[in-house]
Amino acid sequence: MKTNSNTESVVIPDSIINNIGLANPNITKEDIDAVVQVISSGMLVQGENVESLETNIEKLTGVKYSAACANGTAALHLALLALNICPEDEVIVPAFSFVATANVVEIAGAKPVFVDIDPSTFNIDVPEIHSQLSSKTKAIIPVHEFGLSCDIKALIVIAKENNLSVIEDAACALGARQDNKHVGTWGNIGSFSFHPRKAITSGEGGMVISNDKSIIREIKKLRNHGIEIINDKIEFTRAGLNYRLTDFQAALLLGQLERLETTLIKRQMLANFYFSEIKNRSIILPHVPDDRNHTWQTFHIMTESNKFRDMVLLKLKEKGVIANYGAQCIPVQKYYQNKYGYEKADFPNAYNAYMCGMAIPIYEKLDEVDCLRICKIINSI
Ligand SMILES: *Cc1c(COP(=O)(O)O)cnc(C)c1O
Repeated sequence: MKTNSNTESVVIPDSIINNIGLANPNITKEDIDAVVQVISSGMLVQGENVESLETNIEKLTGVKYSAACANGTAALHLALLALNICPEDEVIVPAFSFVATANVVEIAGAKPVFVDIDPSTFNIDVPEIHSQLSSKTKAIIPVHEFGLSCDIKALIVIAKENNLSVIEDAACALGARQDNKHVGTWGNIGSFSFHPRKAITSGEGGMVISNDKSIIREIKKLRNHGIEIINDKIEFTRAGLNYRLTDFQAALLLGQLERLETTLIKRQMLANFYFSEIKNRSIILPHVPDDRNHTWQTFHIMTESNKFRDMVLLKLKEKGVIANYGAQCIPVQKYYQNKYGYEKADFPNAYNAYMCGMAIPIYEKLDEVDCLRICKIINSI
């Protein structure tokens, strides 16, 4: 038992102190001070901190232009609107991702067409894309799942051959590269999320990047009610939304972004620890292709069966460790199944990853003692 130093009378049981959550952002006193400073100034909405954040994301990724926005889902929605994706259009998305990747296509009125994943990387099976192309296909939204770049290099070739736009959902993958080129900069548009489960966070927050000046100009208009300044006058030239990021959220991100490299090194260290210490024959550890780095937003392991996976989740929970499944097999979620009639067997790899895969804690604030505890529980099953 430990007592909380501020309130001596409050006794916190060990079971609570020792809980290991699935995510826990590393916010420093300096980060909080920066937020307080913005709030004290009274300038709360999109302002100079948002601009600095955009400049620093451009520097990090090597992209020419960027636009911060309210969250990662808004970033994807803005991307589809900027590309004028319409009803009747089809957009290729991976069958295994967070459901937002497909939801935005539905919200834009278009049809998501799912492609199964490569079971070794959990990313879209690029050669499989060919079989799902039609005369209505307008775009592909590849996801860099769990912080590992998909084979974006091969995907871009297919997109070019078929005259398709590419929106990279890099929500989990800030810092990830293939052939040393940052994710989000290969396609027409890239998007990031600053949700607390991602490497840097402002609670809610997102970013769109592009090397196409006209796309970012359109996105900046769409995130701000369709406002454009023409001859120093505010004009409303398109029906836009309010998808702006606040300036204090941007202030919270600036310091974290500066420390990103350290954060990713720590995550890599913890991943290395899992690779050497998890020894359970019923578990398959993740694979990283040679031409890519993994940013370990999620350490996603595969188990031999759904029953075994749920047992591991339960055992961890009993010992105060929170783990969960990694991502959804989207086509079999109720909305998509009811609307399009998909079956589990249509996307065997995505369905298997959904049923038998799981994410174990990995984040900067964990140490090897925490990870060893997790490994011991997993190895004992
Ligand atoms: C987190 C996530 C999103 C959504 O981001 P929000 O900021 O939570 O809206 C979209 N796609 C993927 C792959 C994600 O992991």
